[in-house]
Amino acid sequence: MFENLKKADPEIYESMKKELTRQQRNIELIASENIVSIPVMETMGSHLTNKYAEGYPQKRYYGGCMHIDEMESIAIERLKKIFNAEHANVQPHSGANANLGVYFAILNPGDTVLGMNLSQGGHLTHGSPVNISGKYFNFHEYGICQENGLINYEEVRKVAHEVKPKLIVAGASAYPREIDFRKFREIADEVGAMLMVDMAHIAGLVAAGLHQNPCEVADFVTSTTHKTLRGPRGGIILCKEKYAAAIDKAIFPGIQGGPLEHIIASKAVCFKESLSDEFKEYQKQVVKNCKALAEELTKRGFKLLSGGSDNHLILVDLTNKNITGKEAEHRLDEAYITVNKNSIPNDPNGYIVTSGVRIGTPAVTTRGMKEEDMVIIAEAIDLCLTYDNEEKAKELVISLTNKYPLYEEYNLMN
Ligand SMILES: *Cc1c(COP(=O)(O)O)cnc(C)c1O
Repeated sequence: MFENLKKADPEIYESMKKELTRQQRNIELIASENIVSIPVMETMGSHLTNKYAEGYPQKRYYGGCMHIDEMESIAIERLKKIFNAEHANVQPHSGANANLGVYFAILNPGDTVLGMNLSQGGHLTHGSPVNISGKYFNFHEYGICQENGLINYEEVRKVAHEVKPKLIVAGASAYPREIDFRKFREIADEVGAMLMVDMAHIAGLVAAGLHQNPCEVADFVTSTTHKTLRGPRGGIILCKEKYAAAIDKAIFPGIQGGPLEHIIASKAVCFKESLSDEFKEYQKQVVKNCKALAEELTKRGFKLLSGGSDNHLILVDLTNKNITGKEAEHRLDEAYITVNKNSIPNDPNGYIVTSGVRIGTPAVTTRGMKEEDMVIIAEAIDLCLTYDNEEKAKELVISLTNKYPLYEEYNLMN
């Protein structure tokens, strides 16, 4: 792969090669990242990018879409099957666009919405003032219980009754526990609100049956395809049939132009993978690895928000380790361990420096790592953050990443 690029643009080729080396050498613990298969990657980097296909299968505004229609229809059918959904739109360019698509379909500017606070685990697109969601709609927020780190459902209920939202948004970017979607449905029904679940982080777990399927109870379900679902970078929307036309219209022509058909074909490949038994085993291992890592870090004196994890991620509260989230991210990076800083409830250091880190197991599990490897990762993290011994940690990391090669049999770049 990439021999032609090497000749045509050595500058970009060299940067890409360095990035590949980084990915191969580092332990990737960013909870929202994963490693795609070669077929998923091949489809993305293909001639399908040449085609304009505004509209939907059989209803396009361009000629020559017969094969594109075939692929997009396959993607839609597979996606509906995975999540047992009535309708699927595979065109959102990203998770953010999927959410904006739902908002544009059913809300008017100024409408009241209830979403999870960003600093307590929500996402920018759930009403942050710096995001279009917070600027155009009247978002109110709920958060987690300070004592146990769990979503405060009583607060959700109380605020919902006070502000009477038209839409309630459930779902998170940094929440280590299973979310009770049925409880959200109950609350939405009490106040006559619609319910949207943003399952961006946990879509893979849902696909494998390891988390309640939000399609059973939500009016709209949005997701990314590149996190636990392990597909190309992109978004999707699932909804009840009665909202199908409104959702499709909101994505195109509402907020997007031509769909990225190379990405949509790649999503279809990812969806086929998601329907396999190997994928279910993979997701089970993601959860097992996360539990193993949580346990080992706890043994070593790290404090975890909510005390552990039900899913693919953990939130470490570093206040007892005398180190900020920013500094921890930096020190781990020195030892080739990639994580991201994350604020904790009532963070004494604010949302830029922060007092925590978010750690996830999807990518290391794709590389083949198991519970015993999580023990080594915990030791390396401890060496960096407790003993300031990045050199020793780096040795552990390199031996581990050498043991689980990444794309090496494909000889991507040389
Ligand atoms: C990642 C994420 C998104 C946004 O996805 P992008 O593809 O980065 O736009 C939206 N919602 C949640 C909950 C997320 O975690």
